[in-house]
Amino acid sequence: MNQLTHKYENLIATHCPYCAFQCGMLIAGTRDEAVISGNAEFPVNRGALCVKGWTAAETLNHPERLTTPLVRNKSGRLEPASWNTALSRAAIGFHEAQAKYGRDAAGIFGSGALTNEKTYLLGKFARVALGTSNIDYNGRFCMSSAAAAGNKAFGIDRGLPFPVADIADAEVILLIGSNIAETMPPLMQYFDAQRRNGGKLIVVDPRTSTTAQAATLHLRLTPGSDAALANGLMHLMVRDEWIDEEFILGNTVGFEQVRSTAASYWPERVERITGVPEAQIIEAARMLGSAKSAMILTGRGPEQQSQGVNNVLAFINIALALGLVGKPASGYGCLTGQGNGQGGREHGQKADQLPGYRKIDDTAAREHIAAVWGIAEEEIPKAGKSAYEMLDAMGQSGGVRAMLVMGSNVVVSSPRSERIRERLKKLDFLAVSDFFLSETAELADVVFPAAQWAEEEGTMTNLEGRVILRHRAFAPPDGVMTDIELLCRLAALLDRAEYFTYESTRDVFDELRQATAGGLADYSGITYEKIEDQNGVFWPCKSEADAGTPRLFTDGRFPTKSGRAQFHAVQHQAPAEVPTARFPLYLTTGRLLSQYQSGTQTRRIGQLTKMSPEPLAELHPQTARRYGLAQGDKVWIETKRDAAKFKIKVTPNIREDTVFLPFHWGGAQAANRLTNAALDPISRMPEFKVCAARISKVIEE
Ligand code: SF4
Repeated sequence: MNQLTHKYENLIATHCPYCAFQCGMLIAGTRDEAVISGNAEFPVNRGALCVKGWTAAETLNHPERLTTPLVRNKSGRLEPASWNTALSRAAIGFHEAQAKYGRDAAGIFGSGALTNEKTYLLGKFARVALGTSNIDYNGRFCMSSAAAAGNKAFGIDRGLPFPVADIADAEVILLIGSNIAETMPPLMQYFDAQRRNGGKLIVVDPRTSTTAQAATLHLRLTPGSDAALANGLMHLMVRDEWIDEEFILGNTVGFEQVRSTAASYWPERVERITGVPEAQIIEAARMLGSAKSAMILTGRGPEQQSQGVNNVLAFINIALALGLVGKPASGYGCLTGQGNGQGGREHGQKADQLPGYRKIDDTAAREHIAAVWGIAEEEIPKAGKSAYEMLDAMGQSGGVRAMLVMGSNVVVSSPRSERIRERLKKLDFLAVSDFFLSETAELADVVFPAAQWAEEEGTMTNLEGRVILRHRAFAPPDGVMTDIELLCRLAALLDRAEYFTYESTRDVFDELRQATAGGLADYSGITYEKIEDQNGVFWPCKSEADAGTPRLFTDGRFPTKSGRAQFHAVQHQAPAEVPTARFPLYLTTGRLLSQYQSGTQTRRIGQLTKMSPEPLAELHPQTARRYGLAQGDKVWIETKRDAAKFKIKVTPNIREDTVFLPFHWGGAQAANRLTNAALDPISRMPEFKVCAARISKVIEE
């Protein structure tokens, strides 16, 4: 019996609510007493779960769970209300804002945690029900730089163009800016197998993370110097004749500019920029260049920078120059972070995009989608503002005045978060759909209580591009609605009911299939039944007879205009902020094993908060000594934007010139109060990973 179809002895196969690894899990019991186990038959996690997955059921019957809509009353307090009241208030909020300021005064902020069906419907709701161009989502803060780079280089963005199982067979892996041992522990089984098979792992990270500790070679680079390191490696590939001339000539364009750019990144210079010893750079280049198979994988480290796209392109250049792309156990991949970070960026909740990874400024794409939606092409708005730009313009002239936030906690996850909090307060109307009263929901005029992962059916697309199915294990609590029901009812109140007549989630998926047909991310051949039969289906899948596409580029062709992969010559540029006399340290941010994203769920789970009760600022022992600090002392960390107080963790696992902060907390301890909103010019990704900071000891009264 297939593991995704079986439902025996009260065991239901579904998937973890958190990260993009989307571990298969089995749930038994009731919603109030659910028991979770890893699904050994799901071929991605193969039964393994991390602590977040094991404890995920606690959110289902949590005492703080929202089970009724909340509406802000005249005295400014949120109070329980009926769905009719809450939905009417939302419809009026949007109507009034648009009547006063125009169509684009309505805004939608989505999430990389939403199912494909919700993602698709949210994009349609923005364009058809509200007629606004302003829709974007928190994935803009997560994978957008790698996505943009993949599109530029390969003509397509699928995080991993191969199944994770291929990792075990790679002779060498270069992993840049990803701490998978903490963020996706079950993925480590493939890296462990790779090293057992005699493979080598090179980790690039300013921290000696748990993953870096498992590496053959760790390059502890200066934050913000990734492109210099990549160009330095390219320099050595050319100098030592490791490049694959045949692949470059037959399958790519643009290498000569890359060759000439790399000429000035000689090892001594790269050591000066990156802080990585010349010998280590040469050793890494030798390992990569002499390997028969090699993978280059990026995480948020190089991506969440104001030159994130260039950083990724510089590493893709190496994969192309070595002829790795499309070869067995080889190539470039991005390790997507959010649960549906991949599907979330394919189906139209991005400001510049329509379903199927279509571009909103492409006339043929607009006509196709308009036909599926039953509207005129001209009715589809043009591209709107990207996530941070939309948030920063809230309540301002030309900005959004009424907003619906679905499954995102922007007060915690946005850079310069206190400014975003102030902007949210300036809105005429704010609605939030979530299952807890997040820091963002606390500011809303209307809060909709949403169904959770185990309470609704829907598809997700994991980091491999494998479309999987989450089964509904339990009915939602009384008073709770799914986001799909919410959008359909709200659309009806906005007089667009005829475009939102779905009997089930499957109906939404069937329309999504039509909408994506012929697009880059083509789901037209995927059915719920096929997903169950095959343990997931890799897109593109162009017909019901098509089994899907686990590996891309195996024929050496690329969906670019030329049919070849495109090199991009990039120069290293300093981050938007570098340390100065006033702000002498780098500040970088990241994730912890026991917490997830803005912490709305994981900060409410006892076992997880016990593991990480508060954010600790990591400081090197020499830095601590310099500032007269000891383990457990408190410091003010200050940047040009704000200051916040943190307890310190003294550890040699961080560079002397760098402070690390986890970003899962809100309020006074929000790391994102301090981060820089400098945006990448292409992906509009904020520079979460590097800014300049100063610290001072807190003298308790
Ligand atoms: Fe798996 Fe990610 Fe869930 Fe952990 S958080 S159990 S790695 S899907």
